[in-house]
Amino acid sequence: MESAEIRRRWLSFFEKHGHTVVPSASLIADDPTLLLVPAGMVPFKPYFLGEVTPPYPRAVSVQKCVRTPDIEEVGKTTRHGTFFQMCGNFSFGDYFKEGAITLGWELLTGSVESGGYGLDPERLWITVYEGDDEAERIWREVVGVPAERVQRLGKETNYWDMGVPGPCGPCSEINYDRGPEFGPEGGPAVNDERYVEIWNLVFMQYERGPGEGKDYPILGDLPAQNIDTGLGLERLAMILQDVHNMYETDTLRVVIDKAGELTGVRYGADEQSDVALRVVADHMRTSVMLIGDGVAPGNEGRGYVLRRIMRRAVRNMRLLGADGPVVADLVDVVLTTMGQQYPELLTDRKRIETVALAEEAAFLKTLKAGTNILDTAVTDTKNAGSSVLAGDKAFLLHDTWGFPIDLTLEMAAEQGLSVDEAGFRRLMKEQRERAKADARAKKQGHADLSAYREVADAAGATEFTGYHDTSGEAT
Ligand code: ATP
Ligand code: MG
Ligand code: MG
Ligand code: MG
Repeated sequence: MESAEIRRRWLSFFEKHGHTVVPSASLIADDPTLLLVPAGMVPFKPYFLGEVTPPYPRAVSVQKCVRTPDIEEVGKTTRHGTFFQMCGNFSFGDYFKEGAITLGWELLTGSVESGGYGLDPERLWITVYEGDDEAERIWREVVGVPAERVQRLGKETNYWDMGVPGPCGPCSEINYDRGPEFGPEGGPAVNDERYVEIWNLVFMQYERGPGEGKDYPILGDLPAQNIDTGLGLERLAMILQDVHNMYETDTLRVVIDKAGELTGVRYGADEQSDVALRVVADHMRTSVMLIGDGVAPGNEGRGYVLRRIMRRAVRNMRLLGADGPVVADLVDVVLTTMGQQYPELLTDRKRIETVALAEEAAFLKTLKAGTNILDTAVTDTKNAGSSVLAGDKAFLLHDTWGFPIDLTLEMAAEQGLSVDEAGFRRLMKEQRERAKADARAKKQGHADLSAYREVADAAGATEFTGYHDTSGEAT
């Protein structure tokens, strides 16, 4: 089943069940606590919090998402992209646990002829929050899932929040058993590559306060009991298209093939180059989607996210053997494949290409010189008997040669070195403070706008981190 069909079925199933179809919001979050939209619920957050009365009791969407912290997983696990599409259904004080569970089951296991996805129910494994007896009862007694395929897990996996104060609640996840070729049995509690998580049903009913990771106070009940769900479109496509990883699904595979064609590397021949090809496909798609929503490459906030991702794609193409510009061809294939679902990309084609090409040109201009600087620094570090590249070298590479920190980390690691990231960050902070002081000096006699800058900086530093991740932005 093609991605476009998966999406069409999603929307039409929930529309038939009384949900209002809501188009994807921009990746640029309309929320000061987030840089980019990491989940389908973001546009609905004010409804969950009771700040705005929802104009409908039920909604369905397919939301564009970016999760920067998942960058390390890309190409290595079979199921993490920096960009992906989250299919969601939402209830604002309407149906709750039983409604969400039974609807989800019907859609996943319903026959293809009747509009479902036709998954074999015996391959579905369920997790519930360890304290949630009610969800477990519904799965076992109402749906009839055998006890051994319902596992209880702790907060880390089965208690959902946005990584920042706001709505939260216990959740229940649906996982698909891909079979013994993906490793030992035992369910999602022990093997998340074989039992791949496809759908998270969040029972959104509490409001959380500030805190690290899962260590935060529950401030109280939300005004209503709500449902927020998220199913990864690419993950379901991977199952329905019977491929090994999300990068081999229809909309991404064409990008891999183009990258292979440009570098003369055959996908499937070697694990290391396969990872690089998958990184290129993922990162180029993310770059196009970000530029499409109006993000411009830069050294801060969203612009820096885009820069990191796009430069990483370009460098991986070099590692694969490309020596000239590649972005035009890659952008072209992404636009053609994603343009089917997002026609606005096609009308905006010229602008997207221009922004992407300028960023590639800027990077290629300094890549060679920067690489020489890095190589010298690596040799000096090793000669001095150290295995840690100094923070000021990483800062110089960032500041003068346009090397985002992950690029430096990656290139240093290839030569067996780590990087003094804390030192790098300290220098970045100092530079920012100098810039602020300069700006203040310049504005003497005028209104002091630096307070606004500080608010923006603080907002920029907060990145939603998905479920397990506590890492923040690189700077
Ligand atoms: P995982 O444990 O696999 O990292 P998650 O628990 O962080 O996933 P959720 O926050 O529950 O993910 O998001 C809901 C759904 O979105 C997931 O069940 C999955 O299908 C999909 N999803 C999450 N992160 C990604 C990603 N980086 N790439 C593709 N799909 C994703
Ligand atoms: Mg998870
Ligand atoms: Mg999850
Ligand atoms: Mg995750």
